[in-house]
Amino acid sequence: MHAPGDVRVEDRDEPTIVEATDAVVRVTAACICGSDLWPYRGVVPLHGPTPMGHEYVGVVEQVGDAVREIRVGDHVVGSFVASDNTCEICRAGYQSRCVEHVMMTTIGTQAERTRVPLADGTLVRLPGEPDADLLPALLAASDVLGTGWFAADAAHAGPGRTVAVVGDGAVGLSAVLAARHLGAERVVVSSRHPDRQALARELGATDVLAERGDAFVARVKELTGGYGAHGVVEAVGTEESMWQAIGSARPGGHVGYVGVTHGVTLDGLRLFMSGVHLHGGPAPVRRYLPELVDLVWQRAIDPGKVFDLTLPLEKAAEGYRAMDERRATKVLLTP
Ligand SMILES: [Zn+2]
Repeated sequence: MHAPGDVRVEDRDEPTIVEATDAVVRVTAACICGSDLWPYRGVVPLHGPTPMGHEYVGVVEQVGDAVREIRVGDHVVGSFVASDNTCEICRAGYQSRCVEHVMMTTIGTQAERTRVPLADGTLVRLPGEPDADLLPALLAASDVLGTGWFAADAAHAGPGRTVAVVGDGAVGLSAVLAARHLGAERVVVSSRHPDRQALARELGATDVLAERGDAFVARVKELTGGYGAHGVVEAVGTEESMWQAIGSARPGGHVGYVGVTHGVTLDGLRLFMSGVHLHGGPAPVRRYLPELVDLVWQRAIDPGKVFDLTLPLEKAAEGYRAMDERRATKVLLTP
């Protein structure tokens, strides 16, 4: 990305092993993330031409001397954060905040090849070469599904519970799938977009509400005997969506927030009086990846449905335009 709205597909230097713990992966599927739209729209500043992308499925082509588990030829998926998976933070399940973490977006995976740091900790080996029709679902596991799963987990989705989801992007829709899979009885999602409303229902939403803000909060309370939801997923990242999420949760309820926040300054006293649990941040997708890969491989879940446009890598700019104009929810890029 050269500037807001200016995406170009260009030749860069071939990735190589920089650290002995690196791998070089040939990317078989990559995609555009909702968070890539922040710099595209000029909300997050760019400092010159920037490689893009942090989601990937691929095949290992090279490994550094210190890589022990991952081998050349392995089919792999990794999260959007590289992590050693051995430090205390990782072992506690918070790999996205690993003491050694590297954000994959600083390297860029919307490419034919990419360097993956901390390969043994970061990459999850697939059971074999995936069937082509499984690629979208495996790619979803790399970020949006894992993020939705963490959010649903943080919202304590489970049997007998009502979970509200604020946000109908790929993460919000993945959270719907996750909440239902985790046993939530009722999943209420906020959406005005007809295609996304239909997909939300297909993924397990029981109630789709067009209301936003306080009107949404009021409807969630109506649906829950005046109490509010047991758990809420926040998957947008604005001040309004944060309050929509916090307000929708009952006192003592759990809010899992995974929308990257922009301009959010929560009022302390209002937050204090809400009495909710808040837990979120960059999702530790690596914690969930082995289980998610397994579910996808068994075809028990199909999170690949969040991709509604597939383009060759060289048409990446068109993919950004389609997502920016909301003509596509999520765009898959093939090499
Ligand atoms: Zn770590």
